[in-house]
Amino acid sequence: MTLNKAVADIRARQRIKPSALDRPSAVWTGVDLLDGREIKTLTIIFKTSGCRWGQAGGCTMCGFVYDSATEPPSPADLETQLDRALNKAGDMDEFMLKIFTSGSFFDEREISPQVRQSILRRLADDERIPKVLAETRPEYVTDEVMDECTTILGDTKFEIAVGLETSSDIIRKDSINKGFTFVNFVRASETAKKHGVTTKTYLMLKPPFLSEGEAMDDIIQSVNDAAQYSDTISINLCNVQRGTFVESLWQKQQYRPPWLWSIVEIIKKAKQVHPDMPIMSDPVGAGSKRGPHNCKQCSHDVADAIRKFSITQDVGDFDELTCDCKELWKKVLELDDLTYGSAIMD
Ligand code: SF4
Ligand SMILES: [Zn+2]
Repeated sequence: MTLNKAVADIRARQRIKPSALDRPSAVWTGVDLLDGREIKTLTIIFKTSGCRWGQAGGCTMCGFVYDSATEPPSPADLETQLDRALNKAGDMDEFMLKIFTSGSFFDEREISPQVRQSILRRLADDERIPKVLAETRPEYVTDEVMDECTTILGDTKFEIAVGLETSSDIIRKDSINKGFTFVNFVRASETAKKHGVTTKTYLMLKPPFLSEGEAMDDIIQSVNDAAQYSDTISINLCNVQRGTFVESLWQKQQYRPPWLWSIVEIIKKAKQVHPDMPIMSDPVGAGSKRGPHNCKQCSHDVADAIRKFSITQDVGDFDELTCDCKELWKKVLELDDLTYGSAIMD
């Protein structure tokens, strides 16, 4: 059985619950970096017909496909979704707007060119927004679309966000089933750059079938490989989402999410080699069994330090961290390669 068939079979057993088409899948506020300074953010996940790749099987860790709409939202629905999101900006006088769709903002089956242009025009006219970021798979990044976006946005900065996950084509294919190659990512980043558009690269620590140590090495190598095509690197920590292939492994005790000590170590090493590259990580679900975790005592403190570092970019934020479980993590690094593929659980 191919990996895609295994993922598709799991997807086929899930039901997507009908939900209001004029409401975004999620909206939240946060903070990020803009030219080295902290800025507030408003993130919207548009509810669209969903990720084309995900519907055909898709990535082993991705449960976002279940956030999509049961029927395609109309242009008016998508505009209302944006209204509702902007209402949450409340009295913020400056914020970066981040657009996700549980798929690709530039996939015209999810968001038509007319709606995309209308959304960007509204954002360009909003003086509170100095920068817009939009996530997409690389195949939808074309000269025409980049030209259109920058023409509409004018002075408003624009960044694409691409889930490269790893620079290894083998891991991306055999552990993630991502469906594109490093060369495809490079082409997208270079196309964006030609138009003055920056690239945020998402990597993912510990896809299935990798030991803790292999996963760390993969991300350290990936930061090195992706750096020249990235303006920011954000390292996601794999968590166990419902209805995914990763969840089926986890239920069989064949997958453990990454240790938080691993990302701390990765950041320290990567920052030594790339001191000027903004490297970020938001340890979603940290401390829970399904999320990246250390022991119960330290997980939340370590996660807070990782979030703090993402804004300060100062590895000194990790200096005070210590816990008995760090010795256990070191043992896992020694032994995890010797268990013939079984995860060391806790
Ligand atoms: S991770 Fe991205 S590309 Fe993969 S299935 Fe999910 S939304 Fe689609
Ligand atoms: Zn601990």
